[in-house]
Amino acid sequence: MNDHPLSRFITFVKHDQDICRIEREIVAIGLLIQQLTDEQVAIQKSIEKAASAMLSARKDVDLQEFEMNSLEERSKALRMKLETALSSKEAFSLNKELDLVGHGQEVQEVKVLNAWRILDKSKSDMESVKRRAATEQENVQGKLAEQQAMLERVNLELASLSLWRDREVNLIPEEWRTQYKRMREFMPNPVVPAVNGYCGACSYPITAQDIVRIGKLALIECKSCFRFIFSSERLATISKDGPVSGEKMSEVQ
Ligand SMILES: [Zn+2]
Repeated sequence: MNDHPLSRFITFVKHDQDICRIEREIVAIGLLIQQLTDEQVAIQKSIEKAASAMLSARKDVDLQEFEMNSLEERSKALRMKLETALSSKEAFSLNKELDLVGHGQEVQEVKVLNAWRILDKSKSDMESVKRRAATEQENVQGKLAEQQAMLERVNLELASLSLWRDREVNLIPEEWRTQYKRMREFMPNPVVPAVNGYCGACSYPITAQDIVRIGKLALIECKSCFRFIFSSERLATISKDGPVSGEKMSEVQ
């Protein structure tokens, strides 16, 4: 590599574009890590939801059985009273109440069975949620570890490229630096060679005057896509010719 400002600038842009790519990659990895973390939370929530459903089913079984026992107690008490009833009127009224309690017991029995059915279902749901969650957690954790390792690797790469960039950026002529800064983030491939008199990126024709200028190692700006254009043929001759003297270094307009 020679030290002509133009080739230095082209090398700088190439590496700086690598930095841009890594920066975008870091953002994408960050999003993916966030997404995986959200998935972990969702898996945890699904377990909590199943556990809570099981708990409330258990409470309902207790409640319905308590109701059932109360009716049983009530029925026993009525039967005892009936044995010692003093009049047929009292016995009639007690029997009537016993019928009502008996009907209530029948209804309650269905409620108890139903509560048990719901509890059994919630237990088996809990088991399958746990099994599924274990597989999913393992999968998500594997992916997370992968992304975190990748993040560490690209951060290291970025740190070393940034060190190089910080050193090199001060050696780039101010006007190229300013111009490049504007296109850095959004324009991939911002410096392109001229190809047979056309812009190497968008194929817009280069004026005869500009062709003369890139022949003198100037950088010109494409009138259509605004990228920098240089002459790669001319650049290749620098190392053979040695340092170029008396040429204007840059003429970006
Ligand atoms: Zn162009």
